[in-house]
Amino acid sequence: MSPVRLFILAVLFYIAWRLFNGPRNKKPKSRHDQSKSSEVKDILMEDPVCHTLVPKGQAIRLRHKGKTYYFCSEKCCDTFTRESGGQE
Ligand SMILES: [Zn+2]
Repeated sequence: MSPVRLFILAVLFYIAWRLFNGPRNKKPKSRHDQSKSSEVKDILMEDPVCHTLVPKGQAIRLRHKGKTYYFCSEKCCDTFTRESGGQE
């Protein structure tokens, strides 16, 4: 095989590689946005009452004084609101 043909092959291979990998590399931003809505659910949050780690997606959320708290159960949520002097 001549060096020119090798070069052409290499260029074709490069173009094919770019076509295959290009679209994926173009979307780091949208992938990041998706991770905010879906992947973040798997982050473990500490329950401030019983100190259990709960997956964010399954946790019971409570907004309290501008902060969001995550609880393993409504029982813990109730305990927290009672101890912190009720909801705003
Ligand atoms: Zn708890």
